Amino acid sequence: MTPAGPRKVAAYSAALAGLSLILAACSSGADPASYPEDDIDIIVPFSAGGPTDTVTRMIAEPMSDDLGVQLVVQNVDGAGGTVGAGQAATAEADGYTVLMHHIGMSTAPALYDDLAYDPIADFKPVGLVTEVPMTIIARSDFEPETFEEFVTYIEENADTVTMAHAGEGSASNLCGLLLTDALGVDLTAVPYDGTGPAMAELVGGQVDFMCDQTTNTTGQITAGEVKAYAVTTPERIEALPDLPTTAEGGQEDIAVSVWHGLYVPAETPDEVVTRLTESLQVALADETVIDQMADLGTAPVSEDQATPEAHAALLEEQTATWGDIIGASQGG
Ligand code: ASP
Repeated sequence: MTPAGPRKVAAYSAALAGLSLILAACSSGADPASYPEDDIDIIVPFSAGGPTDTVTRMIAEPMSDDLGVQLVVQNVDGAGGTVGAGQAATAEADGYTVLMHHIGMSTAPALYDDLAYDPIADFKPVGLVTEVPMTIIARSDFEPETFEEFVTYIEENADTVTMAHAGEGSASNLCGLLLTDALGVDLTAVPYDGTGPAMAELVGGQVDFMCDQTTNTTGQITAGEVKAYAVTTPERIEALPDLPTTAEGGQEDIAVSVWHGLYVPAETPDEVVTRLTESLQVALADETVIDQMADLGTAPVSEDQATPEAHAALLEEQTATWGDIIGASQGG
């Protein structure tokens, strides 16, 4: 065999370069200008029937109508939302995998030493969706009747009380940590893959209480299936007007609401992100979505918050804030 001449080598290289361009175009799935041409998977990193799932399904319908393809919800639960977020981080960056996640996106780096993804570097934010109040609720036959009685009961019975949450880094875990910190107690925490299954066990009386978003608790509170003690926002909320705030009960440090946003993998083309942001804004202006959210104690964010810029700014600020809070509470 004789070595190829320089001209032949150049021709081979040109052909190879052409081939790899074609392969790259095929593997990235599509031309961003004609996006979307196929159904889109939207990963919810918690169980079906929980608050993140509920909000996702609310916006998936009008977004599907707007985009002309189906947004298909995929529940990839486990480890406080980090399993689903990890899967989304390594998905093809073609706009056909979108992640819905909440405040847990900003707490995970401080909580998990071995986090497989970087919430800031590995994703492009698409826009914020909603900010949901939380409620402290208990099984219907839990002894305390008022929030003040609940606080006293927890302080006196910390060794026996059980608290449900959706895994380390979940919103319910975060609210639980604020509560145990504020009351200076250690409780037995019972982790689930989402507060959907946790709610079923709470209603069934297998666990004593949890702190969860109104998008998962308003129905059960109104139906009397659980006992509700307080809401974690500075003001009472319209959907549950009789429910006092934690501050009214002297516990202003138990204050948190849960912001949600949509993400795509970091290498996703900007045209694709722009199309998703437009569609998110259409969904958030939809009267049905506004009404459904109001019934569950929340509301869509304003249009200027449903943008990649506002979302990126909040994610960065919250990652720093929660990093400090969690670091301090872990003695770091
Ligand atoms: N968002 C979770 C869920 O959908 C619950 C949580 O974060 O506490 O189940």
